[in-house]
Amino acid sequence: MAQCEGKTRKGERCARNTRTGSSYCSIHVDQERRTRSPRVEEWDRDSIMKAAVGFALVGAIFLFRFRR
Ligand SMILES: [Zn+2]
Repeated sequence: MAQCEGKTRKGERCARNTRTGSSYCSIHVDQERRTRSPRVEEWDRDSIMKAAVGFALVGAIFLFRFRR
């Protein structure tokens, strides 16, 4: 068992022990996934931006329709 490589919300090193076969504890497994596939996070950000633009467009269309 080794110390978890994850970081707490305060930015401190996690003091928990790692899970077997991982360098992170059960709480910080998602941090391991992020470091291994940064492209997925970028795609997520991009899709979130597209969704935000889509919602803004739909909102604008509804505004114009209600004004008539
Ligand atoms: Zn941890």
